[in-house]
Amino acid sequence: MLVKKSILGTTFNCPCGNVHSIPTKHFIYAPDAIDKIPEILSSELNGRTVNLIADKNTYLAAGESVEKILENSGWNVQLTILPEKENNKPVCDDITFANLNKILKPADAFLAVGSGVVNDLTKWISFERGVPYAVVATAASMNGYTAENVAPAINGVKSMIHARAPFAVFVDPEIIISSPYELTASGLGDLLAKPVSTTDWVMNNKFFNESFCEECASLINEIEPLYFNNSEKLKARDPEAIEALVTGLMYTGFAMTMIGFSAPASGGEHMFSHTLDMMSSVDGIPHYFHGSQVGIGTIIAAALYERILSIDKPEIHKMPDKIDEKFWGNISGSIAEQYNAKQEKLQIMRDKLSSDDYWSELKSLLGKRARPAGKIAECLEKAGAARYFNDINCSTERALAAVLHSHEIRKRPTVIDLAWTLGILPSSAGEIFKEYSL
Ligand SMILES: [Zn+2]
Ligand SMILES: [Zn+2]
Repeated sequence: MLVKKSILGTTFNCPCGNVHSIPTKHFIYAPDAIDKIPEILSSELNGRTVNLIADKNTYLAAGESVEKILENSGWNVQLTILPEKENNKPVCDDITFANLNKILKPADAFLAVGSGVVNDLTKWISFERGVPYAVVATAASMNGYTAENVAPAINGVKSMIHARAPFAVFVDPEIIISSPYELTASGLGDLLAKPVSTTDWVMNNKFFNESFCEECASLINEIEPLYFNNSEKLKARDPEAIEALVTGLMYTGFAMTMIGFSAPASGGEHMFSHTLDMMSSVDGIPHYFHGSQVGIGTIIAAALYERILSIDKPEIHKMPDKIDEKFWGNISGSIAEQYNAKQEKLQIMRDKLSSDDYWSELKSLLGKRARPAGKIAECLEKAGAARYFNDINCSTERALAAVLHSHEIRKRPTVIDLAWTLGILPSSAGEIFKEYSL
């Protein structure tokens, strides 16, 4: 097993000055992972009633066997299959949450069987109710399993809620390998974001003194070459490559839990995906898998960094004063709130960038972390993951609109804001699309 047991369930003083905790005590990556569920649940819980949450697909992939194994061991399983909404899939939003909270009976624990939405809703509800939760992973599609955060849409805006990481994660490699490949490919996209989001994190640390932790930033350094250099092995469902991907995703979740915010794994590249999701809530045009959109966002963000790092003497530009209200329609109120909250930081950024020494220092810090956009594109391509706009069912016009509105949606500055401030955006977006044949 690639996940080091020594970090599970620990609390430690870190050289970064913070105390970090990983509440996940058990990580089982084994062919008999599901058989181990009753034993581990019993070791952590007093009662014997569990709310098992799945969707239609994950119930068939794993939920049904989990339910049987628990019942055979004397557990009272209260099963809930999530209702389908967008594209015949459940969604994680305030409305689904409220409805679920109404119908779910009390239990001693929650057990999510699924990935993104299933895991997020279960984590959220169990946290609200102060009940522990565990998860059975059914796909390597995202890094949220071991993270404490939930990313629901609230009033149509992608938000971030602090909850609690699961006490146990169960992964049967065979279930991951036999899941639809586009889910695995989506996980690769989400994981490739890591170096770019770390570069954004370094930027936020330098400009605004945001708490930075090298331990969290470098948690996946040893694992990265296993999937980054040989991504075609993922396509071939090579067990070692799949394990490296799963481990990388789990570690990225741990990193977010350790630092208490999403900076280790989410920066400007994620804004592209979040913007597409939010555009979808405005105009109803379906978005694609989170990680697949993030992978392409990572090519764009890395390309922006390439342009930023080639600047010798920065020319400072002021970003637009207001958000595009016409574009955001009925969610423009909450978008404007985020954008207005960022203005003070943008001013600090402009002030600091005006000094020559500052620019060379910043450039050298960012240059150490950034990855070439071409390498990211190549890695996605070799893996058979989404790499072109076409792969995520997105037109070039829609992608351009997403890039050019992605600075509006979050109050935390990213590479997108830096690119606007240096005059790279809005003009270079189209050039980048062409350069990487997106
Ligand atoms: Zn992500
Ligand atoms: Zn630390």
